[in-house]
Amino acid sequence: PFDVLVVGGGPAGASAAVYAARKGIRTGIVAERFGGQIMDTLGIENFIGTKYTEGPKLAASLEEHVKEYDIDIMNLQRAKRLEKKDLIEIELENGAVLKSKTVILSTGARWRNVNVPGEAEFKNKGVAYCPHCDGPLFAGKRVAVIGGGNSGVEAAIDLAGIVKHVTVLEFSDVLRADSVLQDRLYSLPNVTVIKNAQTTEITGNDKVNGISYIDRETEQTHHIELEGIFVQIGLVPNTDWLGSEVERTRMGEIIVDKHGSTSVPGVFAAGDCTDAPYKQIIVSMGSGATAALGAFDYLIRN
Ligand code: FAD
Repeated sequence: PFDVLVVGGGPAGASAAVYAARKGIRTGIVAERFGGQIMDTLGIENFIGTKYTEGPKLAASLEEHVKEYDIDIMNLQRAKRLEKKDLIEIELENGAVLKSKTVILSTGARWRNVNVPGEAEFKNKGVAYCPHCDGPLFAGKRVAVIGGGNSGVEAAIDLAGIVKHVTVLEFSDVLRADSVLQDRLYSLPNVTVIKNAQTTEITGNDKVNGISYIDRETEQTHHIELEGIFVQIGLVPNTDWLGSEVERTRMGEIIVDKHGSTSVPGVFAAGDCTDAPYKQIIVSMGSGATAALGAFDYLIRN
């Protein structure tokens, strides 16, 4: 059996695997797609110590770093079941069952898409999902935020300090964000809120030049000219495959303590699949290191 089996090969999983292997213990990593979300990222400007890099390049260097150690890498393999017996069992889609003394879950998350024409076409060409990452790219420009929940309104407040103008498009007739956030939003001079707005299309040529929506009250279509669109309608953790014994929030995020431990002894978690409040590369790498050290601590005590 493994001492530490990492499930997920993004920044959190790669970090956890390296930290575990450096303890000289038997380490494996299973990933559906090594690299994770950064494979879909163009420019990265907030990975501290590296002024600029690109997602696939960072993913390649994560893989190179992992390969420096004696780590069993199982890429293109999806985990479908976790069960705690004497050891912890992870069953893969291909039917193989891996056994380990500890497991680190780092299966990440995915942004919910609006699924309108133009969204996929203009991804990284004006369509963005992460204001902390891509906000500065739109300095002085006009943007829209789709979604009036907490994340949408937080994004709009954040962006209003950087960009020229922000339009918030909310599908329903009320914003669902906390009232303190709404008060702050409405106090800003360069923000417009449009409710009852159903986004129908993201327009552009080589990059985004506007957004179309239907006013659900009047059923009229409108078009706004702008340069950027932030989709903020939810980040979904990849945790559906886990049984109920691994405790999660209402949103499906795995609940961890400050050692990265979950509700199941010997099972740890790190990165975007957890209830950590900020989902960033550098944060997920830090929590991967924490989970690996937590797992090592657990091994020497049990
Ligand atoms: P992920 O990167 O999501 O990796 C999850 C891993 O688990 C993958 O290998 C996946 O294949 C695997 N997996 C999932 N389910 C299973 C399963 N059942 N079995 C086996 N493996 C599984 N952050 C920044 O700091 N700066 C940026 O500039 C930035 N830009 C971004 C741009 C975009 C378009 C996106 C989508 C995200 C961006 N982020 C950025 C966020 C950043 O990518 C994430 O915070 C980070 O990748 C989280 O790392 P993770 O390892 O927790 O999860």
